[in-house]
Amino acid sequence: MMNTEQKIIGMDLWHLQLPVNARRDHGIGSVEHVVDVVVLRLTAEGGEHGYGEASPWSVFTGSAEASFAALDRYIRPLVVGREIGARAAIMKDAQKAVAHCTEAKAALETALLDLQGRIAGLPIWALLGGKCRDTIPLSCSIADPDFERDLALMERLKNDGVRVIKLKTGFKGHAYDMMRLERLRKDYPEFAIRVDYNQGLHHDDAVRCVQDVASFNPDFIEQPVAHHLRPLMAKIRDSIDVPLLADESIFGPEDMQMAINLGIADGVSVKIMKTGGLTRAQTVARMASSVGMSAYGGDMFEAGIAHLAGTHMIAATPEISLGCEFYQASYFLVEDVLESPFEVKDGQVIVPKTPGLGGHPSLEVLEKYAVNKKFSG
Ligand SMILES: [Mg+2]
Repeated sequence: MMNTEQKIIGMDLWHLQLPVNARRDHGIGSVEHVVDVVVLRLTAEGGEHGYGEASPWSVFTGSAEASFAALDRYIRPLVVGREIGARAAIMKDAQKAVAHCTEAKAALETALLDLQGRIAGLPIWALLGGKCRDTIPLSCSIADPDFERDLALMERLKNDGVRVIKLKTGFKGHAYDMMRLERLRKDYPEFAIRVDYNQGLHHDDAVRCVQDVASFNPDFIEQPVAHHLRPLMAKIRDSIDVPLLADESIFGPEDMQMAINLGIADGVSVKIMKTGGLTRAQTVARMASSVGMSAYGGDMFEAGIAHLAGTHMIAATPEISLGCEFYQASYFLVEDVLESPFEVKDGQVIVPKTPGLGGHPSLEVLEKYAVNKKFSG
């Protein structure tokens, strides 16, 4: 039997609550104490495993409970018994089986690619078209409501060789944002600074606040207003010289086309958790590039499995040229799920060279933080 004709015989799920080391405030909401992720494990006839992770955020993409149910109830029947080589057909069926739940679909495609890659002896990037880079610049988010704690994090980042940060704004008033920008520019001139409002500005104040922030000349300013206020995004974009990025306004290729038509941004934050998989993320990046828009490798509050999936996707996508933000495993989670640490060196994420994801979770850690689980077979 050909390797790709092997069937998937098992599908196991863990809903984890992973403790975090700080509070994070964003324009749309806060994260404190724990983040919720769902880990998916597929098993092939030959006994090989493939892992994926759904990393939702309730205020942004949806809930972990919804991801778990999407995988368990609606996607499981489409997967168990199918050939591992039938990835495109399985993903097409998953798209139709349950609306939204993009994080569950990202987990599914990750696990299928991991399984296929392990059996074929190829890293996931090789299955996505081959790689264009071996390292990806890491951006870490500055989002603690206690700025002194963020300054301590800045020292740690500086010592680690990280040179890109993203300041989260729009959760505690304009004066607070301006104060932090001034301080960061003065004390950390070696850092590139990006700014992300996560929809935090009221439409009445948006143009004025963004113009003030643009005077600090950040690399870009991301999603200042609510995702559906697309004409206002276009107006803000016209009012500043700094590039405007869209995040919450663009989930998949369908939104990307609308964003292009309306001219809402100069760039897009591409996330596998928004697009519903790695191949759809590549499509979004290519659509952006085809009209001269930049692409950035964003993420949700993820653990190491999702970081690895995003790393392989970006490694195989030259159109994503603004680095990535896979910082949570190293700087935010008390304990990551991976058996060996997610590799970051001198401020760069290292693209794995080993088959599949190039890493797998520790079963001990999965058991330790599981609040719900379901095994098959
Ligand atoms: Mg964002």
